[in-house]
Amino acid sequence: MSDPIGQIHEHDNQAWFHPWEYLPDVGHNQRSIIQRAEGIHVFDEHGQRLIDGPGGMWCMQIGYGRKEMAEAIAEQALRMPYMNPFSLTSEAPTRLAAKLAELAPGDLKRVFLTTGGSTAVDTALRFVHFYNNLKGRPGKKHIISREHAYHGSTYLGATVTGKDRDRNWFDINTGLSHFLPSVNPAGRPAGMSLQAFCDARVADLENKILELGADKVGAFIAEPIQASGGVIVPPEGYLKRCWEICRRHDVLFIADEVVTGFGRLGHWFASEAVFGIQPDLITCAKGLTSGYLPLGAMLLSERLFQEVSGSNANGASFGHGFTYSGHPVCCAAALKSIEIIEREQLLQHVRALSPHFLERLHALREIPLVFDTRGMGLVGCVECRVRPLVESGMDGSELYAFETELGMRIDRHCHELGLMVRPLTNLCVFSPPLVIQRDEVDQMLDILHEAILRTQRELELELGL
Ligand code: PMP
Repeated sequence: MSDPIGQIHEHDNQAWFHPWEYLPDVGHNQRSIIQRAEGIHVFDEHGQRLIDGPGGMWCMQIGYGRKEMAEAIAEQALRMPYMNPFSLTSEAPTRLAAKLAELAPGDLKRVFLTTGGSTAVDTALRFVHFYNNLKGRPGKKHIISREHAYHGSTYLGATVTGKDRDRNWFDINTGLSHFLPSVNPAGRPAGMSLQAFCDARVADLENKILELGADKVGAFIAEPIQASGGVIVPPEGYLKRCWEICRRHDVLFIADEVVTGFGRLGHWFASEAVFGIQPDLITCAKGLTSGYLPLGAMLLSERLFQEVSGSNANGASFGHGFTYSGHPVCCAAALKSIEIIEREQLLQHVRALSPHFLERLHALREIPLVFDTRGMGLVGCVECRVRPLVESGMDGSELYAFETELGMRIDRHCHELGLMVRPLTNLCVFSPPLVIQRDEVDQMLDILHEAILRTQRELELELGL
């Protein structure tokens, strides 16, 4: 393919309706065109090489340009590109299901293959409803989620997503979703200790279950680290205590590991290895294939599966699934990506590199524009605020408009300097390919440091601060 740049922009503006399209900009967008990628780098239309800070979108675990991935995909596509998963079976999905059952914590031994993260979350939520119907408790359907949560873009996933931006303009209230306050320690009231904050957020969950009635609450859904909500790392002990509350009240715990799975936090899954919990269901996607092809999975505890199968099934079938559940080519990609992560010991690599990445990230706090930095494993975020504007008491919407632009400004400077970041309003988030090396982490954070300084200088000039 070799369309001229002007043609690509024209098609982009006239034909492609992008995810999260900001509609006022349609017709005059000048998005960067990415033409190829290699290792941890992508190359734009000017041939500029950029470190891929967000790692695609939290998914590019093994890095770009892996010939053996292309070969595994081609081999499966030639041998058998598709198979009806409802009534037939084959090697790639069965082998992948067995592999995921082996890697998963606890008794999560049943694997439902989906097309991505949203469909994995949908599958989990539908399973919770199905399960409670089959068990003769049809009222146990409410789902508890949290502010800033992101659980996908299917309608059901969106009902448990706690980001206003993703809910506005949609009639999305089913009456079955409930949102607990943010668990972001940076947002706790001045003077409140971390321990008191943690206690309060844990109490929120128990209080909500008691308020609704445990016989009405089907599940609590939580990302171990809230990723697109702003890399929110909960206070120590929070998740484990929430999990214990769920067990005490017979509420299922869904860990949405779409971002935290497959090595992002140095383990196949973060739930047990990092947070000491054994969820009843785990959803995953993204790093499952390292982003080479779309695929997701819901992992389900064998205990739950047994409760609704065999003689307990009461004549029911789980009426849910996708044409592309267990797509053989996607499964072949996942198997190869997992093989590479194992062979190259990338989980160990992440665990060894993470302290350096986090130390460099937190060092950015010395810049006045930086309000907070947070991260874990190989995921991180910088939050910026124009403090003099905040302190000046500037009107909320004006300040919001300003801060919303901060990420974009930093992104522009980063791009000039050779780094791609993912701006989310006043945040820049990072989840670089897991294959990134120590000197490349330094390069990435040097560029970010310089880009934030440039943004700060620019603001000082503009605002006379
Ligand atoms: N859950 C989480 C935690 C996610 O971060 C995402 C995607 N960013 C999803 C679900 C949805 O995944 P997908 O975009 O593959 O449907």
